Amino acid sequence: QAKAMGKNNVRFFDPSMQAALEFRTAMETDLRHALMHQQFILHYQLQVSALGDPIGAEVLLRWRHPGRGLVSPLDFIPLAEETGLILPIGLWVLETACKQIAVWASDPVKSGMQLAVNVSARQFRHTGFVEDVTRILHETGANPILLKLELTESVVLEDVSIVIEKMHAIKKLGVGFSMDDFGTGYSSLSYLQRLPLTQLKIDRSFVHNLPDDVNNANIVRTIISLGGSLDLNVIAEGVETEQQREFLLQAGCLAYQGYLFCKPIPIEEFDEFISNRQYLKKPDSPRSEIQV
Ligand code: C2E
Ligand code: MG
Ligand code: MG
Ligand code: MG
Repeated sequence: QAKAMGKNNVRFFDPSMQAALEFRTAMETDLRHALMHQQFILHYQLQVSALGDPIGAEVLLRWRHPGRGLVSPLDFIPLAEETGLILPIGLWVLETACKQIAVWASDPVKSGMQLAVNVSARQFRHTGFVEDVTRILHETGANPILLKLELTESVVLEDVSIVIEKMHAIKKLGVGFSMDDFGTGYSSLSYLQRLPLTQLKIDRSFVHNLPDDVNNANIVRTIISLGGSLDLNVIAEGVETEQQREFLLQAGCLAYQGYLFCKPIPIEEFDEFISNRQYLKKPDSPRSEIQV
């Protein structure tokens, strides 16, 4: 716009703002083409039980940008939400995950593993979401029980009753719901009780300095006991050390995800990881002493 007003006009932007705007515009153009050019891939991050057994994986989106390499979802999901591109992208993620569930159905180890898919607020609020999930499950033949949708607390900021209605419709299909990044948002206990959730996921910001940080240790214990009261299972994300796992286990959290067990990796590596039973090769974890 500034250009169109003529050379003698004062520019509205300072150079850094101008650069930021140009960057954003370029990213948006690239993002519009990314699906068509098959630049998205999914990484799978293992989730394990207290016994160290694989129970599932979280599906994490990455963008293989031709010039910028592997772009983190943190750097393009907000733009995808703003532009509405999250809708087709989200459908692609859901469809790819469901296809994977269907492929795993014939595998002795992986047939029981749940896949957790992140759903952004905008995607969930979209009117066709329930129909989309229904159709994708049908088309892929994925067992709905093995699909879990991760919502964040921001989903419930408006229209709580509509959100609850939609969740019930999807839960009827057999699909589970995990409240992602739990503890970082605005959950009120009154509606938390009304949401048909199956899981609370403790945010990694509470996990990373366990067990030393007394505040976070207390928050984590509180979330675990809240999960117990609401009859929800609890999983911790961002578990990086044996000390953290030990604390969580003692506090009653029986499912974990984090670099301690496995980083998010492409499907070929993930398959190999499971087939080679690499998840058992943790030298210092006293698995045999764990009673669940
Ligand atoms: P999230 O759903 O909370 O995912 C967990 C994030 O923690 C992932 O980051 C994962 O790589 C990272 N992580 C896992 N274990 C550890 C650990 O032990 N230590 C540390 N430091 N980090 C760990 P990632 O893959 O960069 O994803 C960031 C966020 O982007 C996700 O947070 C999620 O909100 C969003 N996202 C990812 N994929 C999708 C998607 O398909 N759709 C939507 N709407 N959002 C997505
Ligand atoms: Mg998540
Ligand atoms: Mg999370
Ligand atoms: Mg998070």
